[in-house]
Amino acid sequence: MNARLKHARYTGFAACSGCSLCLLACPVWDATRDIRLTPHGRAKALQHGATAYDLAASLDTCTLCGACEPACPEEIDLVSMVLDLRSALNHSPSVPIISTPPASKAAQKIVIVPDSALTSDAALLALVQQAFGGDHKARMVFDNGADIALALEAGTAISDERRIEFLAALRLESVERLIVGDGILLRALRHWLPNMQIESLGVAMSSLSTVKNQLLASDFYVIEARAYHADRERLVQHYDGLRIQYGCAMNLDLQRLAISTTATSLPMRLGRNVVDPYERARWILQGYEFSRVIVEDLNELAVFSAVTSQPVIYLAQLVSELNHHISLTNSKE
Ligand code: SF4
Ligand code: SF4
Repeated sequence: MNARLKHARYTGFAACSGCSLCLLACPVWDATRDIRLTPHGRAKALQHGATAYDLAASLDTCTLCGACEPACPEEIDLVSMVLDLRSALNHSPSVPIISTPPASKAAQKIVIVPDSALTSDAALLALVQQAFGGDHKARMVFDNGADIALALEAGTAISDERRIEFLAALRLESVERLIVGDGILLRALRHWLPNMQIESLGVAMSSLSTVKNQLLASDFYVIEARAYHADRERLVQHYDGLRIQYGCAMNLDLQRLAISTTATSLPMRLGRNVVDPYERARWILQGYEFSRVIVEDLNELAVFSAVTSQPVIYLAQLVSELNHHISLTNSKE
């Protein structure tokens, strides 16, 4: 094993049996049919002495969707494998656990870290904050750590100063819940803040009765893959519960869960998308009849809107659907 990998957090590739089950779930395999670009290919190459440098092209293509992990019978942490190898490639150290003293007391019990897409839409930001009880209960952070999320995805270095600045800006003293929009940042925050209750924005939103009670049996609900796979054992129950209660269809079948819209560093590094998000969206919807598509991830709104003539709604907008319905009812009275 090369010296840099020996010090990396991840060494689980040794357990790979070469069963190829990960291929069934991997959108990169689906798009390329190139075994070298899959978890199987990377793990076997590492077992035979390949270095992170030898795997650079393969590492570049992974969307970090996490869909391969539940397929792997050896329970290898395949997303961490890619993250650590990318870090090794870029000479950046593995991310340490940091306990950061909070900067000051915060009145709100809920802190929301929006992803870049949500941050750039002031109206939707306000809607999300309102859904969690308004500004006396929930606080949107100004510094959303987008640079950190991008660096984590690409495996480039994040300085300790920047990490500490970001965590301090969250002001987590007295905070009960931390809600995070970006799935890769969520994984990292769980590692940095092991005692904090941290959940994804999609799960937190879909747990609110004002949101979930607007779901219809004729909806197709699109789960965001990265956050789902960061906590899938618990979330299988959450989404199954929604599906049973409201009857909506979901992208829960293993092979169709992953969509690559959130892999923002990919086109930056490669100049192209290895996995076409429009193709994936078409495939996810294929064979279903639905009257609306509900997306957890705002990045996916435009992609699904381009491939279906039915309305596509961001999850938080279900609250305004309710308001719209109430105002229509009132105007008729
Ligand atoms: S994380 Fe997604 S893209 Fe990467 S290897 Fe696994 S299934 Fe394929
Ligand atoms: S599913 Fe796991 S054990 Fe099987 S080939 Fe893929 S990484 Fe290896």
